[in-house]
Amino acid sequence: MRNPSIWACVLGVEKTVVERVAVEEDGSLVAKARPRRSERQHCGLCRRRCPRYDWGDGRRRWRCLDLGYVVTYLEAEAPRVRCREHGVVVAAVPWARHGSSFTRAFEEQAAWLATHCSKSAVAGLMRVVWRSVGRIITRVVHEQRKSQDLLDGLRRIGIDEISYRKGQRYLMVVVNHDTGRLVWAANGRDSATVRRFFTELGQERCAKIEKVSCDGAEWIMTVVEEECPNATICLDPFHVVQWATKALDEVRREVWNAARIAGLTHDAKALKGARWALWHNPGNITSRQRTTLAIIQKTNKPLYRAYLLKEQLRLVFQLPFDEAVRALDRWLSWARRCRLQPFVKLARSVTYYRADIEAALQNRLSNALVESTNTKIRLITRRSFGFHSPAPLIALAMLSLGGLCPPLPGRG
Ligand SMILES: [Zn+2]
Repeated sequence: MRNPSIWACVLGVEKTVVERVAVEEDGSLVAKARPRRSERQHCGLCRRRCPRYDWGDGRRRWRCLDLGYVVTYLEAEAPRVRCREHGVVVAAVPWARHGSSFTRAFEEQAAWLATHCSKSAVAGLMRVVWRSVGRIITRVVHEQRKSQDLLDGLRRIGIDEISYRKGQRYLMVVVNHDTGRLVWAANGRDSATVRRFFTELGQERCAKIEKVSCDGAEWIMTVVEEECPNATICLDPFHVVQWATKALDEVRREVWNAARIAGLTHDAKALKGARWALWHNPGNITSRQRTTLAIIQKTNKPLYRAYLLKEQLRLVFQLPFDEAVRALDRWLSWARRCRLQPFVKLARSVTYYRADIEAALQNRLSNALVESTNTKIRLITRRSFGFHSPAPLIALAMLSLGGLCPPLPGRG
């Protein structure tokens, strides 16, 4: 090997001197290397130049991108330095992130693939286990966030929660309505998590938030009111319709139970099957479901009334603002007198949140973006099985939906 810089170029490493390249018995390629003089003795955490402490555990290996079909490693000393701030730490190396046993190029390619391909494609192509991919993307995202502040320039945001695993595991997500990007996600579902977001945002940027859409959860709304003095809260109509759907389901269960207790098994069975017909928008139902609805209309007046109440509320939110406000008035006076307890209760909630609902209608700011982000996160969640903490799941979401995916190495 005549020209070491060609090897550095082929391996995709910078500020590195490749001393020697050899093929091992198992067929893998090992490049023995060292950092350039100016790159030696830097703290692995803060990159400050520090005195050497010792030689650590001796020589170490980092996986590089395969060369053709040959598994390739970079091998070098991994001395430790004594940092004023961080104490004794392994020195930084120019070819890898701190604490990683893969080169930067390897990690960037793995992150790019994790964003664009299936789990098995990434693991198979990169010859790593999926759990390692989780650690890789966590490191990549951590670094990307330092250079790209997604919290800058936020004006209109949406906050929501998403269940990512059975057993009450939740992520709180924040999206930017103006860019459509996911800008923040954290493990948790409480006001402390919401507050963490606003603390990270800082007082000055909190004051610039104009609109916040959310789903009506008190633990979100109270914190928003406290932290964002200039923001209008917009309560997503989509969630209000969801409340109506829940109320409808309660009515259906009540009449089903009544029919069962009265021994009307045929009626009870029909009602149990009616769930989907009642849930769907009339435009999307099958002819069989339409028949079910017609039967309910004839035989079960309260349930049909509940269905109409849900449907009408859904339609209210599709009207232009002024009409919607008037239609909401009519809906409320009907719901209050409908003698169906779940809807009377719903009318009370809608009255209570009315200003926030109208703000959403007026500003045309629904949580639809957050909802679509949530749907995408749910798909990401399925790929994240095998990760052992929420951090890699959050990293995968930030890569895909926060625009933090790095370019493929050598092509950026
Ligand atoms: Zn340091």
